[in-house]
Amino acid sequence: MSYNINSKGYYGSFGGAYIPEMLLHNIEELKDNYLKIIKDKSFTKEFNELLKNYVGRPSPLYFSKNLSQKYLTKVYLKREDLNHTGSHKINNTIGQILLAKRLKKSRIIAETGAGQHGVATATVCALMGLKCIVYMGATDIKRQSPNVARMKMLGAEVISVTSGSSTLKDATNEAMRDWINNPIDTHYIVGSVVGPHPFPDMVARFQSVISKEIKEQLTELEGRDYPDYLVACVGGGSNAAGTFYDYLDDQRVKIICVEASGKGINSGKSAATTKLGKLGIIHGSKTLLMQTNDGQITEPYSISAGLDYPGIGPMHANLYTSKRGEFISVDDDEAMAAGLMLSQTEGIIPAIETAHAFAIFENKKFKPKDIVVVNLSGRGDKDLENFTDYFKI
Ligand SMILES: *Cc1c(COP(=O)(O)O)cnc(C)c1O
Repeated sequence: MSYNINSKGYYGSFGGAYIPEMLLHNIEELKDNYLKIIKDKSFTKEFNELLKNYVGRPSPLYFSKNLSQKYLTKVYLKREDLNHTGSHKINNTIGQILLAKRLKKSRIIAETGAGQHGVATATVCALMGLKCIVYMGATDIKRQSPNVARMKMLGAEVISVTSGSSTLKDATNEAMRDWINNPIDTHYIVGSVVGPHPFPDMVARFQSVISKEIKEQLTELEGRDYPDYLVACVGGGSNAAGTFYDYLDDQRVKIICVEASGKGINSGKSAATTKLGKLGIIHGSKTLLMQTNDGQITEPYSISAGLDYPGIGPMHANLYTSKRGEFISVDDDEAMAAGLMLSQTEGIIPAIETAHAFAIFENKKFKPKDIVVVNLSGRGDKDLENFTDYFKI
């Protein structure tokens, strides 16, 4: 049995493409072409060159002496925060812009939560000279203003979305609506391993460079190509999917996914999808999502705009129900404390999303010999004001 996608676009019973008829042409076009295009030699050459010289890959795998001493285990940090634009998101947007060009699209749309995906999309659109429109919830525009300014500086149009909770889910709805209305010239660069097939698989493949590098780097550093644990935060699940990708079917490697429980799992203000979610369909994918008894999607909440999503991608829903992955939920206060801890013990200020992954060390115990690789998905520049307000620094 494999934990990767099957030929029909499903991970176990999750995934597929549940879309309105108006999107059928776009999704079919993608489904029929994406593997052919991304396996093509000219594509891989251009993709790898941009990852190397534009993004700055490979990102270091850094042995954290200080965290290792503090938590009595061997902690490595995969430094996606050092990528151009400050997170893993750029790996995916580079892949998708190259794909869009080969599909002869002239207009790019995207949704964004924390603004990292919006910035990464605006960046590659500037690079390739394509028109860029980013949908962002009004709440997120307020709490992530540095990224809004960056997108505008890069030439993108940022459209404020005021429906629902005015966050990521609502921005995604608007982007889908735009795509339905502009089916010919537009490519929708989805920012995570969510949405209808083939998006989850396509995004996971573009992000899988993270696990490929971990294999090579661990071989050099530890003389073996696998860790005992991989840890990543999960919003939609793309940085986690990239971190796990080459290890999905390697049972020696334990997988830990960290989701945001906001003000607490039972507080009514949470984004802990595996604890609260049930099977349903969101943004074209059959997966676990938070919903009321009659199937209305629940408004999610997390202090971090990038984890503030009521579902998880189908790969992760399958990792959860099959018990291949352990899911730990971390609340706002625990995440903020972990962000301060990492800043002051390692000199690395993480994104609040990323800080969730580091909070697990307070409760989860590892053995001294365990190799624990944490994906440091992004840097905290965009969150500085949230941190300093929170800690009254
Ligand atoms: C967007 C984002 C996330 C959450 O998205 P995933 O698709 O789950 O990776 C996590 N960390 C950072 C830094 C982000 O920008």
